[in-house]
Parts: sequence; C-alpha cells; structure tokens
Amino acid sequence: MIELIDAGKTYTSGTIEFEALKGINLAIHEGEYVAIMGPSGSGKSTIMNILGCLDTLTRGQYRLGGTDVEELDEIELASVRNQQIGFVFQGFNLLSSLPAWRNVELPLVYGHVPREERKKRASRALERVGLGDRLDNKPGEMSGGQQQRVAVARALVGEPTMILADEPTGNLDSVSTRDVLSLFDELNNLGRTIVLITHELEVAQRARRIVWVKDGAIVRDEVNAA
Ligand code: ADP
Ligand code: ADP
Repeated sequence: MIELIDAGKTYTSGTIEFEALKGINLAIHEGEYVAIMGPSGSGKSTIMNILGCLDTLTRGQYRLGGTDVEELDEIELASVRNQQIGFVFQGFNLLSSLPAWRNVELPLVYGHVPREERKKRASRALERVGLGDRLDNKPGEMSGGQQQRVAVARALVGEPTMILADEPTGNLDSVSTRDVLSLFDELNNLGRTIVLITHELEVAQRARRIVWVKDGAIVRDEVNAA
C-alpha cells in the first residue's frame, strides 16, 4: 500500500515560494492500476518525484509499504527506489552505448545480484515485453516503441512493488503507444501495481482508476468506467 497523507510540497527559490502540492490524500493498494491525470503545471511530476522517492515532501507523510519515507536517509531512499520502484520515463532514459540486456540488468547491478543471474533475469524480462530476439541490440538500432519496451523490461527486472510511469507514451506514435499500453494491461493483470502519469485522457482511460489533479490538489478520484 502506498499512501500520501496531507502531503504538501512547497518549492523555494530565493525568497519566492510556490506551493506545488496542497494537502494531497491518496491511497493506492497493491495491484491497482491508477492514472494521475491533469494539465501541465498541475503537479503531476511533483507527485511522481515524491512517489518515486526522488524528492521529499515539505508537509505531511508518504508511507510506502509500511515505511515512513520521510524518516529515511539518502542511502535508504536509494535502496527503496532501487528495490521497490520501477521507473518508466517519457524519454526512455536508456544508455545508448549498451545493448538492451545490459540496460535491463542495471537495477540488478545496483542490487548486487551475481552476473550470470543478472543476464538470465534481464533476458527473461526482455522476453516478457516481446523483445527476446533483441537482447544484443543497442537502443539506436530499435524503434521508439521497442526502446520503451526495453525501459519497461528494466522497470520490471527487479520485481518492484510498483511501476511508476511518467508520460510513457509521450514520445511514441499511436501504434507503439498501443503496444506499450497493452503491456501495462498485461502487467496489471498479473497483479503488478501501476501508477501512470499523463496529461492525455485517452492514455489515462486505460487505467482502472483516474485521479484528477489540478493546481496541486486532487479534484476527482474515480473508478474508470470506460
Ligand atoms: P506537471 O508535471 O503537472 O506539469 P509539475 O509537478 O512539474 O507539474 O509542476 C507543478 C508546479 O510546480 C508548476 O507550476 C511548476 O512550475 C512548479 N515547479 C515544479 N518544480 C519546481 C521547482 N523545482 N521549483 C519551483 N517550482 C517548481
Ligand atoms: P514534465 O514535462 O515532466 O512536467 P517539467 O518540464 O515540468 O517536466 O519539469 C522538468 C523538471 O524541472 C522537473 O524536475 C521539475 O521539478 C523542474 N521544474 C519544473 N518547473 C520548474 C520551475 N518553475 N522552477 C524550477 N524547476 C522546475
């Protein structure tokens, strides 16, 4: 279970303060597929950074699987990020000089998994996203949709508690968008928790629940009827 309790975030630069999150309450249970939807500037990336333990709250609480994230130091945060969260970004964030399987094994390198086991698990993750025949291809030799599937494999390989995807289809054409969203459907059907951040209603409608954010607050939170 992931829980934000009266969560607030104020950015400060010099004497200027900006309240980007205003008392957010949000609970996401294991196995849910939630879209966080809102216009540009509404606070989606800030929520993503908080949920992903990439940034900390200025008020309230973030509880991740029973852990109070605010209590953790930098090293513990890095470990939570690595073990519990699989990230998928709009820009794929792959290392261009490394073949697909080496990109996918990276979270396991940080997790100190032995080399042979890493290769095995990376191969399995790539098979799961339909790229079992592309293990040795570098990102530049693949389409955008394939690169994003490599990124999904990397997000999966450590068996994280949740997959956190920030505009994962923002750089994809409609065919690749469909592929990647189908992959999320499959992963969710297998019980994986997915939090999908998007400003596109069509993408959000693939989730089972849509949380609408506006001006740093949740304005609607509903089961997706579509
Ligand atoms: P979204 O992802 O929905 O576009 P963001 O979370 O990126 O929204 O931003 C929410 C608001 O907070 C915006 O007005 C943005 O300009 C502001 N903001 C985001 N990050 C910072 C920062 N580091 N310093 C100051 N303001 C920020
Ligand atoms: P996205 O398209 O993912 O919402 P943004 O362009 O809003 O990304 O933000 C990119 C990065 O810049 C984020 O890490 C965000 O925190 C930071 N940022 C956004 N707005 C501001 C701002 N007004 N001042 C400083 N940093 C900002």
